[in-house]
Amino acid sequence: MKVLIMTDLEGVSGVVSFKDHVYSDGRYYENSMRLLTAEINAAVEGVLKEGATDILVVDGHGPGGVWFEDLHPKARLLHGRPLAPRQIRNEVIKTFDVGMMVGQHAMAGVERGNLSHTQSSREIEYYKLNDRFIGEIAQFALYIGAVDLPMIFLSGDDAACREAEELVEGITTASVKEGLSRNSAISLSPFEARRRIAEGSARALKRHKDCPVAPLKWDGPYVLEKRFFHTDIADQVCARPGVERVNSQTVRLRSDNIQDIIYV
Ligand SMILES: [Zn+2]
Repeated sequence: MKVLIMTDLEGVSGVVSFKDHVYSDGRYYENSMRLLTAEINAAVEGVLKEGATDILVVDGHGPGGVWFEDLHPKARLLHGRPLAPRQIRNEVIKTFDVGMMVGQHAMAGVERGNLSHTQSSREIEYYKLNDRFIGEIAQFALYIGAVDLPMIFLSGDDAACREAEELVEGITTASVKEGLSRNSAISLSPFEARRRIAEGSARALKRHKDCPVAPLKWDGPYVLEKRFFHTDIADQVCARPGVERVNSQTVRLRSDNIQDIIYV
């Protein structure tokens, strides 16, 4: 079984502040990276226990969230910005059997979602796909779903876990902190967070082998509506071909192929 692990920083136990923990000039940024990497390694341990043969970790946090020198010896890292062309990324992703997310946060606007946002905490008010609010969990699950990979496990704050469970039938989750507000949470001890992740990722893989989770696919055609906090970002996005302006802060993208629009 080959496992692809998407990662982010905001859903890690102990990471609670954009300013101090998440932004690359934050005073505890390096510490956050170490905490994420330890959580990733716990997920790697979990899936190895259930017979995973190849594990690729994707650094999904914009400025980089993985503390490379601590990465588990059995894992490899896909990293770097800007991303490689989609066709090349798909060639890599397609060789895997299942997807997982570690360190994930809830979509923008979720009550008590700790560090909740969608793509950019400074620019985006919401994403709506075919009239349904979505965040980064749906973006990833639909993207890998398009190449037939199911998403079988997620760790993050409790709001992210609920979002994943509502989205993907049969997904296993591990909550590592309880959000009280966007900037406040109750974090588990890092040791307990890692224990839960290792246990959850192992259970997810076992469960998937017994009763396979389906890749997430929604019916097209797709309309992705994006609303920005300010008009200047909408101005920039509208300069791209095929982008429709709905109003001063809102744009729409359309396609029959979900991968055309879900990450642009
Ligand atoms: Zn994120």
